[in-house]
Order: sequence, then C-alpha cells, then structure tokens
Amino acid sequence: MLAQHHKRHVKRATFRDCGRRCVYCGTSLGLEDATLDHVFPLSKGGNHAAGNLVAACSACNQLKGAMLPTEFFARYPWAGANFMRYARAVHRTLKRGARRAVSLAYAEAA
Ligand SMILES: [Zn+2]
Repeated sequence: MLAQHHKRHVKRATFRDCGRRCVYCGTSLGLEDATLDHVFPLSKGGNHAAGNLVAACSACNQLKGAMLPTEFFARYPWAGANFMRYARAVHRTLKRGARRAVSLAYAEAA
C-alpha cells in the first residue's frame, strides 16, 4: 500500500516538473495518460532517482524502449530538443548528453 502511494506521489511530482507534457514529443498529457520513463533505462543501470525520471506518453515510451538516452536522441533529435526544453528536473549530465546527441545528429543531417 505504501509503495503504491509512493509511486503515485512520484508520478504526480514528475508530471508537474515536466510541465504536464511528454518530454519527448511535447504533447500535453493528463495524469492518467502519462507514463513514467527512466531516462537512463533500469536495464542499463539507471535508477529510480527523481533526476532520472520524466513524464512521457506511451507512444514515446515504447519508441524509446531500452535505448540509452544518447542513442534515442541521436536517432530522434526532435525528442532530444523537447527533452532539453521540458525535462526541467532531470540530472544535469542527462541534459548535457542530450544536447551533444542532438547537435551531432543535426550536424550529420546538414
Ligand atoms: Zn510523446
């Protein structure tokens, strides 16, 4: 019960920090439609800390799957651009990695 309550609390706080949007596509979300995404996937050593959590729509969450954030942003630079804009509470190193992946992707496309 306590774990469930905690999970809801974390989701609500993350949702609010992300401006009630999917941080990857920028779509406005209701709390019920939002999913929690671990930016650095749990399967690759990511943790449950607030700095590693964002709100995402289920489509983006599935698209990202177990990709590393840099991999995901290199493949979908628009997601990285939105991430830098909307994922305000994530850890600084994640933002720095996103910025680098996005600028590399755009440089290669140019
Ligand atoms: Zn999305």
